[in-house]
Amino acid sequence: MKIILASNNKNKLREFSEILNPMGYEVITQAEAGADIEAEENGTTFEENSYIKAKAAYDLTKLPVIADDSGLEVDTLNGEPGIYSARYAEPDKLCETVLEKMKDVPDEKRTARFVCVVCYIGENGEHFTVRGTCEGKIGYEKRGTNGFGYDPIFMYGEKSFAELTAEEKNSVSHRADALRKFKQTLQKGK
Ligand code: IMP
Repeated sequence: MKIILASNNKNKLREFSEILNPMGYEVITQAEAGADIEAEENGTTFEENSYIKAKAAYDLTKLPVIADDSGLEVDTLNGEPGIYSARYAEPDKLCETVLEKMKDVPDEKRTARFVCVVCYIGENGEHFTVRGTCEGKIGYEKRGTNGFGYDPIFMYGEKSFAELTAEEKNSVSHRADALRKFKQTLQKGK
């Protein structure tokens, strides 16, 4: 059975394929499925936005679809940048913008988490979402060169996410947590 990923991101395609191939699904991107649309992410939660992305691809193809939406929640910034993570600042100023807002915040108030919500819509339109998280703290400066986005300022214990290898990050990340829960839920429904 084919399943469409509502994204053309190669990393996401690989991560989803690793989980779904052994379950008998072939994951293809929305471009490969001829449904290359950019849905307007105008929801107010990660759950809503992941559903909006999935639904746009489902409406065009009527095939099973998965989509994800992710971001960083900083407690002392009332959950910002949250669903606005990708567009919080110019792409090369994301970390600096958060660091600047946090410059007077003491250690114990620097708690934060990465969130990843995965939405699945089945052949008949039935759907569910699962939420994965990874708890950490915002550092005081950028550290490390791996990863992307907010990884250099997200401290997971003594190291930033950008100081972890891809393998280390993938074993503890919000995306890994969401994918684990996604797999469990899909298997329960089988
Ligand atoms: P989207 O889920 O593709 O809409 O991306 C949301 C945004 O959240 C990304 O552009 C990044 O800025 C941020 N983000 C999501 N996951 C991560 C991560 O694992 N590391 C660093 N930044 C992330």
